[in-house]
Amino acid sequence: MKINNLAGVKFGRLTAIGIAFRKNGAIHWQCKCDCGNEPAVRGRDLTSGDTRSCGCLRRDVAREMSIRKYRKRLFRYTDEATEFLNDN
Ligand SMILES: [Zn+2]
Repeated sequence: MKINNLAGVKFGRLTAIGIAFRKNGAIHWQCKCDCGNEPAVRGRDLTSGDTRSCGCLRRDVAREMSIRKYRKRLFRYTDEATEFLNDN
């Protein structure tokens, strides 16, 4: 099996540094994330674009989503409160 040399290549927030280990025939790359974490990521996940951060990207997106959801809920409650006040 040919090993793609990913060292120095950047995938999203991750930069592959070198081979970390091989598990079940899959090469895992030691990566450095923009946030400072250094996760080992399966090479295939890097090249396919499945993994683009140590997990912080997902966390950031989740946080952003929950903020949006919270805001939406806040607006809805405000609307309901306004309607309630208008009705009474
Ligand atoms: Zn990260």
